[in-house]
Amino acid sequence: MRWAQQWFIHHCVYSDVLRVNFKSMVTGAFSGIEQSALPRSVDLVVTHGYVVTMDAMRTVFADGAIAISGREIVAVGPTAKICAEFVAARVIDAAGGVVHPGFVECHTHVTYHIARGAFGDTVSYAELGPTTELAFVNAIDDEAEHASTLLACFEMVGNGTTCFIEAGTAYSPGAVADAAIAFGMRGLVADPFLWDAAETPGGFNAYRLERAPASTERALRLLGTELKRNVDPHALIGGHIAIAGMGTATDELELAAKAAADAGGTVFNQHQSYYHVDTETDDKRHGCHAIVHLEDIGVLDKNCLFAHMNVIRDDEVAPIVRSGLSIAWCPAGSMLWGVGGTFGGRHAELYNRGVNIALGSDSANWANRFDLGLQGYLAVLTAREKFGNRVVLAAEDALAMATINGAKAIGLDKQIGSLEPGKRADIVIRANDIAEAFPLTDPISQLVYSTGSKSVHTVLIDGRVVLDARRPTRLDAELIFRSVQSSVARIFDRMGYQFKPKWAPVDRVLHPFVRKS
Ligand SMILES: [Zn+2]
Repeated sequence: MRWAQQWFIHHCVYSDVLRVNFKSMVTGAFSGIEQSALPRSVDLVVTHGYVVTMDAMRTVFADGAIAISGREIVAVGPTAKICAEFVAARVIDAAGGVVHPGFVECHTHVTYHIARGAFGDTVSYAELGPTTELAFVNAIDDEAEHASTLLACFEMVGNGTTCFIEAGTAYSPGAVADAAIAFGMRGLVADPFLWDAAETPGGFNAYRLERAPASTERALRLLGTELKRNVDPHALIGGHIAIAGMGTATDELELAAKAAADAGGTVFNQHQSYYHVDTETDDKRHGCHAIVHLEDIGVLDKNCLFAHMNVIRDDEVAPIVRSGLSIAWCPAGSMLWGVGGTFGGRHAELYNRGVNIALGSDSANWANRFDLGLQGYLAVLTAREKFGNRVVLAAEDALAMATINGAKAIGLDKQIGSLEPGKRADIVIRANDIAEAFPLTDPISQLVYSTGSKSVHTVLIDGRVVLDARRPTRLDAELIFRSVQSSVARIFDRMGYQFKPKWAPVDRVLHPFVRKS
């Protein structure tokens, strides 16, 4: 625990900083520090952070600094050394707070965020897809998808996430991209709702979307359209290949999607093995377990990202390990529907066997919150519950899943996921002025188990501050909220839907979301 003691001593030295307004520290250039000859000019330096780099050696600096030029990290090291080597146009004093790479959200439906809470707790999984949620997805328009994405980005960044991969369920990937770019968020989008075997039973595939009917011809025609975004290596929003998965794809579509991902140098993303209904569907179709079949036809590979993987049978373990695929573990999105965070999923076992396990928040009315720190917390806890073993996963594992593993899962580990020279400056700076941060013993443990997203203070994406003192810098939060409210009212009107809370307020006929002014 030597480093922890150093951390405590260090922090005492800087304890005066804790008492000043954090924002007041975010000014000016270095002062009072002797600099070596010819210090290099950079745009920004973050100083005095408990810097958790997430590099291969898992290097941590108790009093660390990061020099940033443009969109890139130039240097990471002890504050005294970085201050001697660089002069900065702007300094952000992290005041002893944890500084870490932004989280990478590996399974999201950002366009469903405006439906959060709207369908209630008592709707069963079997009812929700074919009825209420289907009506919602049929009613949503581009403006609503834009508003929903703004809200999702604000929430994700506010919780320490700097990059997301959209699951291929936005009708307008352009609306998602525009909103994310306006917020300053990094991400990957995909073609809308690619599926061609939706006659089979099971949750997701029970949908019948007017704007995206299940069709091999349609899916193959659209497949890869969004890869056009990857022409610009500096674009905040790129493209990837996603199909709906979970028993909704023919082998023809699976193989075409994998080939498109290979040709485009990107990842192949799909839902897989969420719960027993979709795995039974796959078992029946293929005469063997789904993952075994996908290996047989040559789909499993390093660039595969499969979300959920909650039902993994004995003979599916070896193909997963052999292939090098990544899994987006969504514990909350499974617990809320009674599937279990990892009862049948083997996420912890696979992680400990070297499989790249990342994390996902899934969707409104599934996890309800786009909070990857919470997913990491639940991942550790559900694994311990399953095994009755405290050491099966630790706080550091949650942080790895949320950062570098996430970057690898979406194929961007050369650009993001750790704080290293040459990588993009996607950085989260945590505040220490909350009760949950004390006592100052083990900052990583505190981050995962106690401070959570409450401690997120400043967030940089691509070298730019996009969240300062917990507020977005590039868009007005009130405007985001207003556009969400007007969109949801319009969509519910179109659906003819009115939310009925279980405990209906006695002084109000309509829910405020649908109240007409
Ligand atoms: Zn999903």
